[in-house]
Amino acid sequence: MMVSEIFLSIQGESTYAGLPCIFVRLAGCNLECKWCDTAYARDASEGYEMTVDDVVGEVKKFKPWLVEITGGEPLLQADAKKLAHRLLDEDYTVLLETNGSADVGGLDERVVKIIDVKCPSSGHEGVFLMENLDYITQQDEVKFVIGDRGDYDYAKKFMEDFLREITARVLFAPVRPRIEPSELADWILKDGLKVRLQLQLHSYIWEEEKGR
Ligand code: SF4
Repeated sequence: MMVSEIFLSIQGESTYAGLPCIFVRLAGCNLECKWCDTAYARDASEGYEMTVDDVVGEVKKFKPWLVEITGGEPLLQADAKKLAHRLLDEDYTVLLETNGSADVGGLDERVVKIIDVKCPSSGHEGVFLMENLDYITQQDEVKFVIGDRGDYDYAKKFMEDFLREITARVLFAPVRPRIEPSELADWILKDGLKVRLQLQLHSYIWEEEKGR
């Protein structure tokens, strides 16, 4: 598999935010989001070739029990599902973050999926694979990255139309500096939405430093 980086940090997103977490960032992505904060991981040819055993070995050098497989888009690589399974069998809690356009079917059911739904301002509205809704469980999280009011309205409608019965773990994350967290917070409070305002904790600690 092609790996961009493996590192230990503080989980900055999701309901796991604040916990020490090992990140396995796979290289390669099928999208070019306008607000991408990991452009260096979009090209698979710039990754390092590693076997699943190599990756598990690197992960085991760190202490924390929490691992996130991310990208790029990790599910473009056939071995990503195998890697998740191996890490679960090593007793790690495994999060997998995906951009929502790739098939999550076949992932070990113990994996906590964090699935993006791309909003219009990303340039990729409509790439979400609707079949993925069949695999989302109450432990999984759905994330909307919101760059303007149009994105907010899109996310709100998507949530009301498709997520109500599936998961209560819905994340709304502002694209900074395009939109201030306080502005997004005001919209959420005014509408009384049952969503979690997500700020990227790691960017408050280390700003945009790579490998953090
Ligand atoms: S899906 Fe993620 S890695 Fe790919 S372009 Fe979008 S933000 Fe960047």
